[in-house]
Amino acid sequence: MSANWRTIEADDPMLAKLTLPQLLQPDWVAGGTLAELPLEQLIERRIQALVLDVDRTLLPRRGTELPPAMERWLRQAQQRMPLHLFSNNPSRSRIGSVAEQLGVSYTTNAGKPRRGPLRQVLDQLALPPTRVALVGDRVFTDVLAGNRLGLYTVLVKPVNPEGLPCRHDHWQQLEVKLARLTGATLV
Ligand SMILES: [Mg+2]
Repeated sequence: MSANWRTIEADDPMLAKLTLPQLLQPDWVAGGTLAELPLEQLIERRIQALVLDVDRTLLPRRGTELPPAMERWLRQAQQRMPLHLFSNNPSRSRIGSVAEQLGVSYTTNAGKPRRGPLRQVLDQLALPPTRVALVGDRVFTDVLAGNRLGLYTVLVKPVNPEGLPCRHDHWQQLEVKLARLTGATLV
């Protein structure tokens, strides 16, 4: 196997040296959903803004209503720092309605793991990438996108319509297996 498959181009010289397992390794593998993430730990890590995946991170796959615990968490979080919803979903009605409900900015068609749209969000936030956390439920889109630009990446459990962690999160399980095959530990 050639060496090339292990290296994905990243932005700055430090990140350019990251190997595929490093790019697929979240900084924090949370055991629960976003609503269960201890906000204080993010603040202690000097995180000053959150870029949040939407589908299955904030909203269940089919639902359009924020689970109550999720909405509480988001409202607490936005009192502490700016939030930006960042989704590969093209639906402005789905993503925009959640963003409007919360009064936060958003991006649809984000093209994760591409870097361009995420770079624009970082420019708007005017913060160094290390002060911004990207939180999502997918390794090969959310985590990879965030790591490519040097953000603090958090992998959360997908949320079900009751606001609880999905029991059968096959996608994430498959991605974690694949990432481990490359050498990422995901612990
Ligand atoms: Mg998602």
